[in-house]
Amino acid sequence: MSEPTLTAPSFQVDGHAITSNTRQLAALAKKPVLAVVKANGYGHGAALSARAALAGGATWLGVADVPEAIRLRNAGITAPLLAWLHGSDPDFRAAASLSIDVGISTEQQLEAAAHAGARVHLKFDTGLGRNGFAVGDWQRVIDRADELQQRGTLRVQGVFSHLAGTSEHADRAQLAQFEQVQRLVRRLEPVETHIAASNGLIAYPEHEASLVRGGVSLYGLHPSGHGDGSGSEARALGLLPAGRLQARATADGQIAAGFAHGLLPASGAPVLVGDRTLRVAQVGAYATTVPGIRSGETATLFGDPSEGEPSVDAWAIGSATINYEITTRLGGHELDLQGTGAA
Ligand SMILES: *Cc1c(COP(=O)(O)O)cnc(C)c1O
Repeated sequence: MSEPTLTAPSFQVDGHAITSNTRQLAALAKKPVLAVVKANGYGHGAALSARAALAGGATWLGVADVPEAIRLRNAGITAPLLAWLHGSDPDFRAAASLSIDVGISTEQQLEAAAHAGARVHLKFDTGLGRNGFAVGDWQRVIDRADELQQRGTLRVQGVFSHLAGTSEHADRAQLAQFEQVQRLVRRLEPVETHIAASNGLIAYPEHEASLVRGGVSLYGLHPSGHGDGSGSEARALGLLPAGRLQARATADGQIAAGFAHGLLPASGAPVLVGDRTLRVAQVGAYATTVPGIRSGETATLFGDPSEGEPSVDAWAIGSATINYEITTRLGGHELDLQGTGAA
């Protein structure tokens, strides 16, 4: 195959879709949205996705770690920003100096944040021990946070948890626990409280919280998975697909997209060429075999199913994975990323 950079697939990101999805999620959840733009905006570009979500009324942004948050600040994004996943020695000083709030899951992190003067969101485990403070430690942690806050070295801006989504029964128990947390922390006067990601914000719009954390749904993908592959579940919620991946045929039966660009094996996955739906025979390193495509034609791998294009979900089925892995994997690769919309 030829040079991958000369034949890079084009990943077009529609910022207007992300803007519209943000509004739609806030309407569904009856709460403002913290837009999750980790993993390079699930592959759609972190800064582009952040700007589009803010244009749609998102009041917060969320990423996994402090370095991702710093990159957003360096891109000129000044909105409230939370990073919640930390290694053994996170740079909370940099976070504090750039007004990046940090999610805190251990007492060691709490002390480090106070030392650095960072603003925090305390994470409480309300379920089966994923992470966050265990119920037996809640009172001690709250007392300590109160003490640090009185001294003026710490500000508890928020408290949060993570709804696991294993069953409605377990979710409702977690939501009740989170209400208990909100009562216990009242003297800390947190401004923000949040527990639901995409699944929870859709399933439990009545739950008590000030924010919801929207990730996969922000990009127009349904959080419960690929469904029947038509993308209809996301559309039924009023969500619009944000990404379109296209590649050119560099020879008859071959398009210039492959593992090097973030594709997974996807035999049988659909590709739209003009008005013909063709099927992938085999994905290779730089090229994918699509019988029936002619040299020079453009293939749409996924895009907007309401325009007849294959959905990300169809590719998730073809690759035996979850929908957001399809877009997220594109992020780290050699692609021609083009953004349109609210910037
Ligand atoms: C990734 C993540 C989210 C977003 O989850 P989705 O299911 O993609 O909406 C929310 N909260 C936390 C803590 C996360 O890590």
